[in-house]
Amino acid sequence: MAKSNLEQDILKVLVTEEEVAKRVNELGEELFDKFADKNPMFVGVLKGCFIFMADLVRATQIQSELEFIGLSSYQSGTASSGVVEITRDLQKDITGRHIIVVEDILDSGNTLSFLKKLLEAKGAASVTIVTLLDKPSRREKAITADYVGFVVPDEFVVGYGLDYDQKYRNMPYIGVLKPEVYSK
Ligand code: 5GP
Ligand code: MG
Repeated sequence: MAKSNLEQDILKVLVTEEEVAKRVNELGEELFDKFADKNPMFVGVLKGCFIFMADLVRATQIQSELEFIGLSSYQSGTASSGVVEITRDLQKDITGRHIIVVEDILDSGNTLSFLKKLLEAKGAASVTIVTLLDKPSRREKAITADYVGFVVPDEFVVGYGLDYDQKYRNMPYIGVLKPEVYSK
């Protein structure tokens, strides 16, 4: 294990590195079965997706392409503003393409319901949502993911791509921060 000065801020581990790896491989197999002959385009939602995306596409050995989109629904802190902005748009035409959206966490649903409509308006043939984490207790929009890594309770989680104030994305597991970290 790598030396860490992040671990000291973690109250508890929700999903271990081993559990993540196992689940990502299962998701890759399911995506293979559904998309092997469809030349899909993976669309990752920056920045939270970046580690999950890297592992998921390597667990899904099919002809495919990948793109990223930048979306932001957070001003700061840990609560959604409800307003979604495009901070970096897709660089490719997606007309007629089968899209696999890769997201870190489905929370209020504002981000993914906005993105799904956007991709459909851009002419996608289909939109499939893969989210590493799902926090169903906080949903405001009627949206469900097609593939979910783990369902998590209503707690603010970090690690494996997910941040607090742009930090902790590089932790290899998913955990909850100590309350004093927020009041620093
Ligand atoms: P939604 O639009 O569904 O409310 O939120 C989606 C985005 O909010 C996620 O992509 C993520 O960036 C952020 N988010 C929601 N819940 C959490 C959480 O528990 N931890 C972190 N780090 N980000 C979260
Ligand atoms: Mg995100």
